[in-house]
Amino acid sequence: MAEKLKNCQSCGKIFMAQPGEKICRNCQEAAANLEAVVVDYVRDHPKCKIVEIMEETGAPESLIRRLIEAGRFIQVGVSMSYPCKKCGKEIFAGKYCDDCLKEMQENLQAAQGELAQAAEAAARGHGMYSKELQK
Ligand SMILES: [Zn+2]
Ligand SMILES: [Zn+2]
Repeated sequence: MAEKLKNCQSCGKIFMAQPGEKICRNCQEAAANLEAVVVDYVRDHPKCKIVEIMEETGAPESLIRRLIEAGRFIQVGVSMSYPCKKCGKEIFAGKYCDDCLKEMQENLQAAQGELAQAAEAAARGHGMYSKELQK
């Protein structure tokens, strides 16, 4: 079967993991419970900060960020801001602010353009090379 033995990334116990699973059932359940606690806390304290949630619920920042990025707080009517991973500007969804997203897209397009040009140049280069060989 596709299941294989893995060490749980959370508690370190060995468990039968489905493809893509990183933590054991126990930890998955604990994480789901903690997520519910965090979402409840945020619904009751719409103006709270991430550090307050961490202090009050004991949830790690990574879990809180995951919930924000998944839009879980927006679902309960709370738009929580948190810093963009790149520039630190306050954002409400995703990992990056609009400016950084745009910049990254432009960089990506530029990189793809360069790659295409390089491929073209390489193709041309090979063409010339083979022609020279034929001489
Ligand atoms: Zn575990
Ligand atoms: Zn940004």
